[in-house]
Amino acid sequence: MASRIIKIDPDGDTLVILPKKGLANGIFSHDGGGSDLGTTQPELHYLCSKKHLATASRRACKMFASGFAEATPDPTDNLHHWRFEPIFDPEAFEIVLKAIHAKIRDIPTFVDTQLFAGIAAIADDLECHDALWFFAKTWLTTIKASVPTVMCSDISRFILISFVFDDPVIFETSTKTAITSSSSSNQVSLLGLPIRPSILDEIEQKRQDLLEKLINDLQNLESQLIRKKLGCSSGCSAMLLGTLVQGMESCSLYFPRPSRPFPGLYLRSTIASLRKLQSPKYYDSIENSPAGRYSGLWRVEQYPHGISGKPYYGASIYQNDNALKLVQHNCSLTNHVQPILDAIETAFHGLELSKHSSFGRK
Ligand SMILES: [Zn+2]
Repeated sequence: MASRIIKIDPDGDTLVILPKKGLANGIFSHDGGGSDLGTTQPELHYLCSKKHLATASRRACKMFASGFAEATPDPTDNLHHWRFEPIFDPEAFEIVLKAIHAKIRDIPTFVDTQLFAGIAAIADDLECHDALWFFAKTWLTTIKASVPTVMCSDISRFILISFVFDDPVIFETSTKTAITSSSSSNQVSLLGLPIRPSILDEIEQKRQDLLEKLINDLQNLESQLIRKKLGCSSGCSAMLLGTLVQGMESCSLYFPRPSRPFPGLYLRSTIASLRKLQSPKYYDSIENSPAGRYSGLWRVEQYPHGISGKPYYGASIYQNDNALKLVQHNCSLTNHVQPILDAIETAFHGLELSKHSSFGRK
């Protein structure tokens, strides 16, 4: 099998082996997954120091102290062999091993989020956070301002990076985007990054809880309008009710009534659509219009000859004391829907890192 040796420590006594990556396992690939790296990359053998590995990596320390095969040198070359699954990004792997061996000048001063996520995945797997700590904090500073506010693959990377390297602000911001801008936690786990199931579960739980509250509050509003508890007349209530039903239907919230897990529903875009709901202009008689809730004055006149030759009614501003007087209601569905939407948006929060922190396991 083709292999390439990379001497992290030229006097090393341990061979860390990263097998050739399968095409299906390109999740941490730093080449964007579009190249043929998976088929051309040889098996990588990193010559390392067992002592450095065991000191920096809790996983390595436990493994070398165990009765596993890795704890005993291989008789073919008298080196310890530590073989990994072919899932890690080779570039990230080399950076982590150099950090473990204090090869400071070989560590890049900047990494993009894709490479950073690959490094975070390996640091989490090896449990060697401290070896990367200084570099990670420097890299975090440079990417902090670029956390996306819309759902994309980088959101998953920011969640993993901030979790592994303990940045509560980025963790809260990126999980908030996942809660409000994804249609399910499957979108977050799409890259296959090793994000804790408890994090994915809480993102999905919060997303569903907020959607359920939104739908319940809108249904409660609908119920009040049906029972004419809102609106100043039957016609006014009917106008508001119709506007609400049409708005909910256009947001896929009406029929069929959505239920958990609310597939295909996005909180942020649903709320943005509901904010655009406009009530039609509604006119009613002054008797059906409470003082202070209308404006203008229209007089209805009967025209003697309509287009079809039959009499019909029309609105006119011409004076006629005997005509029915109409006024335009100021009532709007917006006044009832906005507080519901505001309350939901106020509840937009990301997750608290302290509840999930990997450092809590120490
Ligand atoms: Zn009204």
